[in-house]
Amino acid sequence: MNCFNAVGRVGKECVECGTRFSKRPRDDEKTWALRRFCSQPCANRANAKPAPISERFWKYVNKAESGCWEWRGTKDRLGYGRLSAGRGKSPLKAHRVSFEMANGSIPAGLFILHKCDNPSCVNPDHLEAGDQKKNIADMIRRGRRGSNRRLGPQQQPALTHEQAETIKRRRAAGEAYTSIGLSMGISPSTARLYALNKRSPK
Ligand SMILES: [Zn+2]
Ligand SMILES: [Zn+2]
Repeated sequence: MNCFNAVGRVGKECVECGTRFSKRPRDDEKTWALRRFCSQPCANRANAKPAPISERFWKYVNKAESGCWEWRGTKDRLGYGRLSAGRGKSPLKAHRVSFEMANGSIPAGLFILHKCDNPSCVNPDHLEAGDQKKNIADMIRRGRRGSNRRLGPQQQPALTHEQAETIKRRRAAGEAYTSIGLSMGISPSTARLYALNKRSPK
C-alpha cells in the first residue's frame, strides 16, 4: 500500500524484508514507482534467489522419441543431470527433483533408480524408488560399482537386437567401428563387442 503524505513522499513496504521505506531525494518519479526494496542489500538478496526449482527444471528437459526425457543441463561424470540449488549449495540431482515433482518428497534412505538404465533421463515414469540393496544390485548389474570412471563399454545401456544386427551388417560391409559407433551414439569398442557377439542385446 502506498500512502502519500503532505509533502508528496510515499511510504512503501520492502517486498524482501517488510521494512517501510520512503522516496530518496535521488529517486525520480519513475524510479520511485518501480522501487520494491528498501535498500540495495535487500534487492541483491531477492535477485540472488533462483527461480523456483520446478520452473528451472523444465528449461532443461528434452522429451526424446525413446520415451526418455533427456537432461540438457549440466551432468555429473556418470551422466546424471544436475540442477543448481543456489549459490553455496550443492547441486540437486535432476532425476530426484523430477521424482519429487511427480510423487512428493523422497523418504530418507531411499534411492531413485532408473528403470531405463539411462542416467540422464528425468522421466518420472522411468524412475523408481529403491533401497540401498537394490541400488547396489543395480550398480553391479551395470558394472558401475566403485567406479567414477567415464562409462565404459560394459556400462552403456544394452542395445536392442535390431541395433546389434545393424552393427553386424555394417561391419560385414567393411565399415569402421568408429564410424558405426559415432552414428549410433556408442563407443567404437562397444560396437565391436556387439559385432563379435561378445555382448548380447537386451
Ligand atoms: Zn528491505
Ligand atoms: Zn528413461
